[in-house]
Amino acid sequence: MYNVKSLKAEEFISDEEIRETLAYADANRENLEVIDRILAKAKEAKGLTHREASVLLACEIPEKIDEIFALAEQLKKDYYGNRIVLFAPLYLSNYCVNGCVYCPYHAKNKHIARKKLTQEEIVKEVMALQDMGHKRLAIEAGEDPVNNPIEYILECIHTIYSIKHKNGAIRRVNVNIAATTVENYRKLKEAEIGTYILFQETYHKESYEKLHPTGPKHDYAYHTEAMDRAMEGGIDDVGLGVLFGLELYRYEFAGLLMHAEHLEAVHGVGPHTISVPRIKHADDIDPSAFDNSISDDIFAKICALIRISVPYTGMIISTRESQEVRERVLPLGVSQISGASRTSVGGYVEPETEEDVTSAQFDVSDQRSLDEVVNWLMRLGYIPSFCTACYREGRTGDRFMSLCKNMQILNCCHPNALMTLKEYLEDYAGEDTRKLGMELIERELENIPNPKVKRIAAAHIHDIAEGKRDFRF
Ligand code: SAM
Repeated sequence: MYNVKSLKAEEFISDEEIRETLAYADANRENLEVIDRILAKAKEAKGLTHREASVLLACEIPEKIDEIFALAEQLKKDYYGNRIVLFAPLYLSNYCVNGCVYCPYHAKNKHIARKKLTQEEIVKEVMALQDMGHKRLAIEAGEDPVNNPIEYILECIHTIYSIKHKNGAIRRVNVNIAATTVENYRKLKEAEIGTYILFQETYHKESYEKLHPTGPKHDYAYHTEAMDRAMEGGIDDVGLGVLFGLELYRYEFAGLLMHAEHLEAVHGVGPHTISVPRIKHADDIDPSAFDNSISDDIFAKICALIRISVPYTGMIISTRESQEVRERVLPLGVSQISGASRTSVGGYVEPETEEDVTSAQFDVSDQRSLDEVVNWLMRLGYIPSFCTACYREGRTGDRFMSLCKNMQILNCCHPNALMTLKEYLEDYAGEDTRKLGMELIERELENIPNPKVKRIAAAHIHDIAEGKRDFRF
């Protein structure tokens, strides 16, 4: 039985409700009255229910699809401006006891190189990331209670935050590790993590169990209820996602929004971010073995619909996607992207070559350097942002959500983006990027409407040029 407030996975992600939603969407996919009513609601930027959004996903009327894309672009501008926040993943360990059939870390894969970073190796990886200009990381690890216990993860977080190298510092560590206990989430909170990210992979229970045949991840309820435990443990920024390609995308899309609705109904705060990974080639993994892959057109439509359904939730696109695809979906509502990512363990210090036995999780499509990504973003009219202030200034969870819902975030995020971009330009940028960025900052400063905010931002930017770096962005 469907119950958005239930704490039981099978009740808040009810299979019956998803099936009824898909039937309702099919029945109304050409119903202009219903579609226009939903679009009118979406225009108010109050978000859509999973049923409403599913109707738009099923709709194939070209003019309505154009409207969806235009609306997503508008909401993205209204809520996020032209900022794009940058981050990089840091793979700590690929030891894993699970049997996930789409992931090369699966326990039975004997030809992947198993690696786990020591604290000394982490220092080197983080320095390499800082030397590129990164300020925000997402740490990644396989699930292995012996090799990667929570104590190891906590030690790594502590090490990462403690490294001050030249002007560099990692100011926000997001964490993508397997579902765990309330007690462990509390420890992660105490370690001052940013967002706790856990992809559902698929909301379809039967498929989930087949795709995760062995190991602790096999337990659908334990995995699906993880975000409730994380919130109980005090983590108020959580990141959702499904791995598109495993199941039918319309089912996943409805499940994803139901999960967001559940978090909001129970904890008063929806997901901080939604990621939209698509399955990629990897060692021992052939993506064509999964027959639910989605085209770039559907992918773009999903991104646009996430933006209009949950306007206050950030959207993340990783380097799994090519430059071309990223360019297409950026205006549709993406707020964060990774840059210069390495998905191998230790890959920032020692990039793997063709001859190496790989330790990587998946092939990276966008292989450009961070400087190239920053340059590209600016040429497209975006402000690359290295800001991490929200979490450090206590603007998380429901406080962040209410700021975002009231569009106030533009007053904080916009100047912070300019200031952190300035830091990047001073400390790490190539000549062309630096020139481009300086011009952009001048222009954008002029456009800040609030005179007080403008004055403070200009003063900080001046201080950065003079070498000052200890701001709390
Ligand atoms: N072990 C943790 C867990 O179980 O959630 C950490 C996750 S893993 C390091 C990060 C994510 O990569 C997974 O949740 C999965 O969605 C994604 N992933 C795994 N195999 C992939 C593949 N072949 N292509 C693209 N993404 C993949």
